[in-house]
Amino acid sequence: MKALQLTGPGALELREVPVPEIGPADLLLRVGAAGICHSDLYVLQLPFQLRPDPLTLGHEIAGTIEAVGGAVDGRTVGERGLVYLCWSCGTCRECVSGNENVCLAAGRVAMPPCPGLGPDGGMAEYIRIPASSFVPIGDLEFAQAAPLADAALSSYHAIEGARPQLQPGSTAVVIGVGGLGHVAVQILTATTAARVIAVDIAAAKLELAARCGAAEGLLCESGTAQAILDRTGGRGAEAVFDFVGTDQTANLAVASVAPNGAYRMVGLGGGAPEITAGPAGGPGWPWGASVRKSYGGTKSDLLNSVALARSGRIRVEVERFDLADGRTALDRLDQGLIQGRAVLIP
Ligand code: NAD
Ligand code: ZN
Repeated sequence: MKALQLTGPGALELREVPVPEIGPADLLLRVGAAGICHSDLYVLQLPFQLRPDPLTLGHEIAGTIEAVGGAVDGRTVGERGLVYLCWSCGTCRECVSGNENVCLAAGRVAMPPCPGLGPDGGMAEYIRIPASSFVPIGDLEFAQAAPLADAALSSYHAIEGARPQLQPGSTAVVIGVGGLGHVAVQILTATTAARVIAVDIAAAKLELAARCGAAEGLLCESGTAQAILDRTGGRGAEAVFDFVGTDQTANLAVASVAPNGAYRMVGLGGGAPEITAGPAGGPGWPWGASVRKSYGGTKSDLLNSVALARSGRIRVEVERFDLADGRTALDRLDQGLIQGRAVLIP
């Protein structure tokens, strides 16, 4: 089969490789679509290799069951579904509490095994997956379903954790209206009464945000925090979701979140918010506000995301590419030219 593999730092190759063998608890999935996440760009740009042998990228995967492992109950060949990306242990305290995204078996700061970031991923014709990660999608198109596995899941989880703040009359700020952010705007619109303010560096992304339900769009510049304060009676936004994560956006979040508000870090840009212990009164962090570094989401968040998509409440803006054009798609994402999500079709 064909697989898009990372063969060294910055080196991406479409290679001919064997169709994976499956174990008794696995499924073989024929890939229908695989989304491209900004995290794939980070992996491609790493100065070292994640593992010594070539790694098939792709953690947003949807497809059809081609073969079922001998010990798997309740799944049949021909079923359509997507892949939950937290391949967690299933037995630790967090997993049994439904928090598989922070599986303790992964260690204190690592993430659970994720296809395309350790095990081979879905930018290929076939993928081996643990049967427990398969989530049915009904008749959703594969290109719509694949991005739900991360772009919707990680957005949904960040929003779910800030739900107490998202009361009627509240304001939610979404920084970065890319693959994740444009879905986040739709989840906020569909599941809360908050007014959404979108922030991006590109006017075209703010137009996308408006189509997704944002009340207003602001360019990210020096006056943006003040503009948010001006629109919230000086108190700030009850929730700020940062899908970029650079120093600039982290400090925009710090300067624009309300007292008791929620600042959720999702973007992995390595930025450091300036939050200090000290009395209030300065320009800094308001009393009672909370920060969460948000990874992926729970299986429950994923089922909720799929339900929203199946009922037409969220729709991913998709740009389709052939698997062989993966490099072009990644380059376009790097240049900020993708509206919504780029999806590879094998
Ligand atoms: P993307 O490239 O599709 O979107 C990024 C958006 O941010 C673009 O619209 C871009 O114009 C905008 N942007 C860039 N700099 C900006 C700035 N200074 N201010 C405002 N907007 C700015 O990326 P994506 O796939 O949506 O991923 C977003 C981030 O989330 C990445 O860092 C990715 O690695 C991370 N991510 C995290 C998780 C998680 O679980 N925490 C999951 C998936 C992705
Ligand atoms: Zn991702």
